[in-house]
Amino acid sequence: MANFLDNDIRFLKGVGDNRAAILHKELGIRTMRDLLWYFPFRYVDRSRFYKTAEIRDESVAYIQLRVRIEGISLQGAGRTARLVAIASDDTGRVELTWFRGIKWVQKRLEPGREYIVFGRPGFFNGQLQIVHPEIEDVGAARQRPPGMQGIYSTTESLNSNHMGTKGIYNLMCNLWEVARDHITETLPAQVMRDHGLIPLRDALENIHFPKDQKILAAAQYRLKFEELFGLQLGIVAQRQGRIEKSNGFMFNRVGDLFNEFYSGHLPFELTGAQKRVIKEIRSDTVTGHQMNRLLQGDVGSGKTLVALMSMLLAADNGYQSCLMAPTEILARQHYATIYNLLGGMDVNVAVLTGSTRTRERDEILSNLEVGNIDILVGTHALIEERVRFDNLGFVVIDEQHRFGVEQRARLWTKNQRPPHVLVMTATPIPRTLAMTLYGDLDVSVIDELPPGRKPIKTMHVRDSQRLRVYGFMAEQIAAGRQIYVVYPLISGSEKMDYKDLEDGFESISRQFPPPDYFTTVVHGRMKAADKEANMKLFKEGTANIMVATSVIEVGVDVPNATVMVIESAERFGLSQLHQLRGRVGRGGEQSYCVLMSGDKLSADARARLGAMVRTGDGFELSELDLKLRGAGDLAGTQQSGLALELKISNLGRDSAIVEICRTAAEKIYDGGYLFDATDKKLLEELESRYSGTKRSDFSMIS
Ligand code: ADP
Ligand code: MG
Repeated sequence: MANFLDNDIRFLKGVGDNRAAILHKELGIRTMRDLLWYFPFRYVDRSRFYKTAEIRDESVAYIQLRVRIEGISLQGAGRTARLVAIASDDTGRVELTWFRGIKWVQKRLEPGREYIVFGRPGFFNGQLQIVHPEIEDVGAARQRPPGMQGIYSTTESLNSNHMGTKGIYNLMCNLWEVARDHITETLPAQVMRDHGLIPLRDALENIHFPKDQKILAAAQYRLKFEELFGLQLGIVAQRQGRIEKSNGFMFNRVGDLFNEFYSGHLPFELTGAQKRVIKEIRSDTVTGHQMNRLLQGDVGSGKTLVALMSMLLAADNGYQSCLMAPTEILARQHYATIYNLLGGMDVNVAVLTGSTRTRERDEILSNLEVGNIDILVGTHALIEERVRFDNLGFVVIDEQHRFGVEQRARLWTKNQRPPHVLVMTATPIPRTLAMTLYGDLDVSVIDELPPGRKPIKTMHVRDSQRLRVYGFMAEQIAAGRQIYVVYPLISGSEKMDYKDLEDGFESISRQFPPPDYFTTVVHGRMKAADKEANMKLFKEGTANIMVATSVIEVGVDVPNATVMVIESAERFGLSQLHQLRGRVGRGGEQSYCVLMSGDKLSADARARLGAMVRTGDGFELSELDLKLRGAGDLAGTQQSGLALELKISNLGRDSAIVEICRTAAEKIYDGGYLFDATDKKLLEELESRYSGTKRSDFSMIS
């Protein structure tokens, strides 16, 4: 039976063809259901009256007062003309100001009478004031149902077609009249009972027309739960499917190579975290399920070693492995590291990149195909068609966020049976986000740095104190150290960004003039050869200072660089700041990160810079980043499209609900409920409603 809510929105009273087209174009709304799921983004609380004395700052967005007008005066003239009314209640005064519609207001306001005044509070010279408040007679206010008022976001085009927030509110009233009896429950009763959820019908009514804060919170919770639960149902199902398939390669032998390396070649003691992760990988690969694991570990936490030891496990069981890195420099660095660590062991390692010579490449490819190569390290070159393995059993992807979706997926289709997959990243993704974005992925964390690392000292310096920073840089250079100076690169005003960089380069060169000093520059607009040459100058220690954009190559590894100066640090996101900071602190010397910012900062920017100074923990920072920015801005989220499809939840702020929904979805798959056919149907519908959501690149693993 067709549901009423599936009807075209044009049939709603007050809409029609023209507005229907606009609703579709501007908000993607086609049906009654779409409109019903278009929720207010904010509410103004008209359920209570404030006293003027209660308002001490601007922290309350909107207030409703009941005040008596004491006097009205017209001030200024011409363009600066304004109407000012002084009003008071029994606790204090408020100044009401109008710049527009003066005549109309003047006619309505009568000194000595009481009014309901509503608006955004502000302060001027310590005096509470409201500019352009709404005013109502006390009598009129009595007739209006008390409650919260939803504010809908609109666009210019909507506004000019009578669909501003009030217009949408009116449509919603019309819709509710006809839709209220057609809303069927979407969640099984037992689930609702277990989680204290209100019925869908009540939730929808109160998300649009809440009577008070409390019922609004219950409505929001119910709707968020439904959304996140729907997502998790799909994720858990997918995961279950993978695990039930039991088509993974068995690494049930810890053999000679692993043991030989562990006892004879390991140059240091593994950290506790490294041991734990290797164990996790071990136990994954003996189950018979295909492993799908994300390894998160801060810059320098020793992920490469974990990758290598896992690949030795594969080799011990007769399987080949490969390790894919995002850049040529990084691939060659990995190859060198692995080659040196193995030091003469009977393991064949090769490296394949775009610049590998034809003859060498042909040799590698034929050896690979007959199984003579155990570990192949490389770049994107690894996913080319002609690269064929004999029996690829283990795939490692380093810096996973730097690869595109298909690139990754293609690597693990290089076998009939999908290999075990380990993706490594130094960009920590908070647990709840990982659970949703990469839901079908187990997460391992290296949360411990190798011993002996000195924490990087971080300070925040305002532009007005710049000279002190130059002094500090001079000291470090005198001590033989090198320095990065990084400028933000924010697309949209690219021209200005490069101007900043060029100006910066000039003023640094002036401050640190040759021949005593040598400053080099690297940015994305340079020719590759120039870039490489300048980078080399810094690597080899010829240049004291490297001025660069934020796109410093992942491969840049200069242990002698001890200072990272980040210009306009307030313009960077937290995780980016943290990544940049990770470029220093790689040698034995004390390292520093200097965050330069303007003198005036937004509250958000202050919070970010403050957090950077306070902690070096990448996970703490990324959790905070998620809270400050919401999930929409985090790497990977945008491209997944998920943030857009969520109507009410925010993966950052609603992380607690994500956890609850994950547990609830697991309980269902573990048979924790006895559902009847109707319940099962509901769950299927819910799952399929959200399964279209582009959730994860990793879901391509079949
Ligand atoms: P990342 O996690 O950033 O990829 P790497 O694997 O490159 O980190 O390791 C960073 C450095 O730490 C390397 O020089 C590596 O040899 C060293 N390292 C790794 N594990 C340990 C350990 N357990 N003890 C001491 N040093 C280690
Ligand atoms: Mg690494």
